[in-house]
Amino acid sequence: MKLAIFGPPGAGKGTQSKTVSMKMGIPQISTGDLLRAESKSGSELGKMARSYMDRGALVPDQVVLGMLKDRLQKGDCKNGFLLDGFPRSIPQAVALEVITDLDLVVNIAVDEERLLKRITGRRMCQCGAAYHVEEKRPRVEGKCDLCGSALYQRDDDKEATVKKRMDVYRSQTAPLLEYYRQRGLVRDVDGNRSIDEVREGVMGAIDGGAPLK
Ligand code: ADP
Ligand code: ADP
Ligand code: ZN
Repeated sequence: MKLAIFGPPGAGKGTQSKTVSMKMGIPQISTGDLLRAESKSGSELGKMARSYMDRGALVPDQVVLGMLKDRLQKGDCKNGFLLDGFPRSIPQAVALEVITDLDLVVNIAVDEERLLKRITGRRMCQCGAAYHVEEKRPRVEGKCDLCGSALYQRDDDKEATVKKRMDVYRSQTAPLLEYYRQRGLVRDVDGNRSIDEVREGVMGAIDGGAPLK
């Protein structure tokens, strides 16, 4: 199955994508994670990408599409994949259609006032796992349950940058939902619930049951 998980920054896309991709045996492809890995490598491309990310702006399509194409060509994508954070604009969706189609878009909807709390309390691991300061996890403070690495706060998770990312979401990403709705691909899930409840909603949407709204 070829899936995309949608939602504003902090909606829980990464959190849900990780467990859903494991359950379904398809890779999670997060353009944010790919870009952060490139930036960490210290390459010129990574530095350039980082300059956009730090401002809360979208990284140019040419860069993101190049990375995505390379990733989709890997063998583990042959039975499907789960896109997390891509596409993020109508031009990206159009470019994706040239490479492949999508079976389903799961939209995680979360009230705006909740998003800011989720993002400013987010703690990340380099493996892509996300935690929150108000959560019981991780088992050992400051260390990832999955890989043991030290958790950190993303530079772009500070309040000023978050506002800009929300604006970018509203102006460039939200219109995409309508684009996919017209194609009958979208199922909405209420993301204002616990991580476990949202996961049930996402799995229900994927299994084709009535979307839990
Ligand atoms: P996104 O990938 O959409 O930006 P994340 O999955 O990184 O979002 O989640 C953002 C933050 O909110 C993280 O700190 C995560 O632990 C937390 N979080 C995710 N889903 C929920 C939920 N349903 N309830 C409470 N906190 C959540
Ligand atoms: P979140 O889920 O919190 O919005 P992501 O990890 O998906 O964060 O993205 C972080 C940043 O990486 C974005 O603000 C943007 O600068 C860049 N980015 C991620 N995906 C894309 C994409 N598809 N197109 C352009 N920029 C992207
Ligand atoms: Zn980890």
